[in-house]
Amino acid sequence: MLYLHKGDFKKARSLEHRIQSDPDLKTRQLYVLGDFHPSDVKHKGKYFQILPDARVSQLSSYLISGIEEAEEWVTRNFKGFQSSLTYFFMNGTGPSPFNAHLGDIYLKVGHYNSAPHDKEIVQHAIIHELTHIYLRNQIGFRIRQEEFGVRKFFDEGFAQYCGFQSVNAYRRKLAHADACSAVIVKNNMSGLNKRIDNWQNTLFKEKHYPLYQASLSFIAYMDEAIGFDGLQELFEDANGKNSFLDVIKKKTGSCFSDLLCSWIDRLPDHNEQNGEDFFGITASKRLSASCIQLSYQSNYPLYPVKDILVLNDAGEQQEVTITRNKRYEKTGDFNIFCECGEALSLAIVFDDHAQRVEIEKSV
Ligand SMILES: [Zn+2]
Repeated sequence: MLYLHKGDFKKARSLEHRIQSDPDLKTRQLYVLGDFHPSDVKHKGKYFQILPDARVSQLSSYLISGIEEAEEWVTRNFKGFQSSLTYFFMNGTGPSPFNAHLGDIYLKVGHYNSAPHDKEIVQHAIIHELTHIYLRNQIGFRIRQEEFGVRKFFDEGFAQYCGFQSVNAYRRKLAHADACSAVIVKNNMSGLNKRIDNWQNTLFKEKHYPLYQASLSFIAYMDEAIGFDGLQELFEDANGKNSFLDVIKKKTGSCFSDLLCSWIDRLPDHNEQNGEDFFGITASKRLSASCIQLSYQSNYPLYPVKDILVLNDAGEQQEVTITRNKRYEKTGDFNIFCECGEALSLAIVFDDHAQRVEIEKSV
């Protein structure tokens, strides 16, 4: 398959066509390069190359400008690491799969804007994926079926941690992760355990649940407890056939569920807002008996699915969805499942800014 990296995109398109027309191959999500139009823009770094699609080449060259600094972070922190990943920056929006069979990453960038915030998010994503490769190829840590959720929780939390560290956004993004965890996880720890056990289902069917935020917040707690080197040793000790839960117990002296409890106990309650009002609801419209649409204005760019946490009267989190393609915008709208007359409590979180908005009685 490596000939594809040498730029034979015509062959790539016909291969994609074959995969897409074969139901069995299609479900294995082997390949998504068929719709790739190569451009002149490219980045060749120490650990990876980036090839953007012609339709998003201008946006892409902005999004990857200055990526060398994040690569230097990798050099300082991933000792002896070598890799030659290819990131394809695809046109379009939606999930951005990592093709383990090819060792390629397809990052769809159509939902981003040419703005510093979005550049930070994209560069974070590049180092996040690279961290997975580092853990797998250099450290020998693998996601095994029998401990899938707990291994993923550490794996994703560590990838979030390294991604944000490398782009100097760690302090702000950790504040976001802590706030999301305090609002959603603190009052319902069994809810988190359920999501970890059903990891894939949470990712695909409960996109509004702050699982990656919880994993980052938890890894930050672990970093304080055993340090960055200690975390890497933990991953290293879990290679081969070792039980990860046993390794955690041995390394920290506590079992995973006790660690979760001590982490969450240390998070502040998140009932009061901190500082300025940066967000307001500008309009509301009932779309159906169980769904309302709210329009918003914000001083900061928001991705409502992740940045707006909605609780009902009973304190249960409600799903937030958006219909437009773009993310991280200062005005827009989102939908919430909510019956007529129901009260809702919204927590809006952007970096280290948080605000509460109460809706007494929805119409
Ligand atoms: Zn990941």
